[in-house]
Amino acid sequence: MGLLSLGTPLLWQEAKTYAEHVRDHGIEQFLNVYHRVKDRNRDGLFWGDEVEYMLLYLDHEKKNVKVNIRAEEILKTLRDQGHDDVIFQPEYGRYMIEATPGKPFGSSTQDLLKLESNMRKRRELINSMLRPNEFLITLTSFPLLGTSDFIHSEVPLDENADASHSLFIPDNLINMHARFKTLTRNIRERRGEKVAINVPVFRDTNTNVPFVEEIAPHKTYGLEGTNRRLNDHIYLDCMCFGMGCCCLQVTFQACNISEARKLYDALAVLTPIMMALSAASPIHKGYLADTDCRWKIISGSVDDRTDEERGLKDSNYLINKSRYDSIDSFISNDDKFKSKYNDINLVKNEKLYRRMRDNGTLSLFHWIGVDELLASHMAHLFIRDPLVVYKELIDQDDKNSSDHFENIQSTNWQTMRFKPPTANSSIGWRIEFRSMEVQLTDFENAAYALFIVLLTRAILSFNLNLYIPISKVDQNMQRGQVRDAVLKEKFYFRNHLYESKNTIILVKDDDSDEFEEMTIDEIINGKENVEEFPGLIAIVESYLETLSLDVESQCRISKYLCLISGRAKGSVKTMANWTRHFVTTHPLYKHDSKVPSEVIYDFVQKCKEMTENNAFDDNKCNCGC
Ligand code: ADP
Ligand code: MG
Ligand code: MG
Ligand code: MG
Ligand code: MG
Repeated sequence: MGLLSLGTPLLWQEAKTYAEHVRDHGIEQFLNVYHRVKDRNRDGLFWGDEVEYMLLYLDHEKKNVKVNIRAEEILKTLRDQGHDDVIFQPEYGRYMIEATPGKPFGSSTQDLLKLESNMRKRRELINSMLRPNEFLITLTSFPLLGTSDFIHSEVPLDENADASHSLFIPDNLINMHARFKTLTRNIRERRGEKVAINVPVFRDTNTNVPFVEEIAPHKTYGLEGTNRRLNDHIYLDCMCFGMGCCCLQVTFQACNISEARKLYDALAVLTPIMMALSAASPIHKGYLADTDCRWKIISGSVDDRTDEERGLKDSNYLINKSRYDSIDSFISNDDKFKSKYNDINLVKNEKLYRRMRDNGTLSLFHWIGVDELLASHMAHLFIRDPLVVYKELIDQDDKNSSDHFENIQSTNWQTMRFKPPTANSSIGWRIEFRSMEVQLTDFENAAYALFIVLLTRAILSFNLNLYIPISKVDQNMQRGQVRDAVLKEKFYFRNHLYESKNTIILVKDDDSDEFEEMTIDEIINGKENVEEFPGLIAIVESYLETLSLDVESQCRISKYLCLISGRAKGSVKTMANWTRHFVTTHPLYKHDSKVPSEVIYDFVQKCKEMTENNAFDDNKCNCGC
């Protein structure tokens, strides 16, 4: 979760007076880095993943399961021990831990297979810290979060919710580092009210019509915020419902800035597809939802826009999305990009946009500032206010610091992130793929992460063109979250990914960028007539043929691809579908959308078994390996 500075975070009333200062210096810091490294070339193709974990506590006598707030203590011990090959990081919830490889993987084929074993190592290290009845799980959302009595703690917990005003989750569940509570509080204060998230409920045969949750008044906040809840929806009211979810992210370093921008665009198109393929979160606050993914929840959980910015009151300053949302523009200067693909109206910080365009060097009588696409992207991120301003870090040396830049950058939580190098580091230009839900087993997480890694290689090697209008990517993002989207929805996708030279010469412009609606099965496994559309797996396979992989590696990678292929076809259920099936076929479930805690206990027991067996890594793979 971004940078964790030590210092005194300012309350919103004071923090907001520094907003302009942070933005101005943030862009100054970006410009310094940009001009220093914009021409750097030949950086290594490094990559690395991030997995987020939850710590649970199982009470076998009472048959219940709770989140366990001992994660910070475990994290501290693990860090004190020092482990070279794994980095452990704090996360939003006190029951969460993030782990990444100790150093990024490189471009060699051997490194591809190091991922899963590193993931296992991370899990083993955390597991070695656990006490009886504790269980570490990679689950996207904890199904009972915000229900009554869902926190396990060895000491009595204060119930206050000063920062969030939540009626359901005490602040005590938020990481103790001041950054996290400050984010929570300042989002609420900036917005002028607490956040409100309405998740459509899954309508089952015995679900009340209309479905209206019974909510008991909170001892301090009464029914604050409940006027914004909707019938037939599950009402969630704080940041933890979103930021308390776990995900799987992958970061790539490109050899130079152009390549990073190219990959950013190409992967952006894949973010909704991979989100739907990784769908894993169908239960919230003890109710079955009609959605399968966390995205809208997390987006709503940090939506700090005022009524005016959200267009609820008359204003001339609308902001179309939460700071946690899908990207609004492509940024590559590659010749495949056409300006018509950027068909979303981009809200920009005009002053900083001009600053970036005008700031540059004279070259052959031309003034070279930051180009339009990149300047627009940054000026779009910089419409946001800094949420956490540390008193001690207000004045910085813009030549040697990236703190103000990172402040805004790291609280724009989008489907893709373009990560410029930081001041004083030798790191290259990176991009991050951020839409996937975390999977239950190391095998699955390795499969999903590696699939993206291999796709980046294929995109670069075959010079693939994935562009569709960005508004269509947004529509895909909406479609990708609904129940069983992976099997039921269609997604806009480009139908000619390879650019044949002939097409470019003969067919001008419009005809050469056709897209259509395809199922995820077609996108991943190809159309019946593969000549028409081969599918992403076939493309990855043709890339793999260009490597001389040993048999063992080939076999392992085939297994990963088989899982992705199976999920796309529906022969392997998504975690969301599997969870839903588990609940709706459980004898204690009354088909009224409410998931009893005993059902979740059984569900977690089953998950535990699957985690320990590294499920899906079996011999049933039918790829012929
Ligand atoms: P954040 O939380 O800001 O997204 P993290 O520090 O948690 O970032 O790391 C994200 C991933 O990036 C990790 O897997 C890490 O190994 C990887 N990584 C670190 N350095 C590089 C690099 N130079 N190129 C590519 N990936 C990198
Ligand atoms: Mg994280
Ligand atoms: Mg991280
Ligand atoms: Mg992070
Ligand atoms: Mg990340």
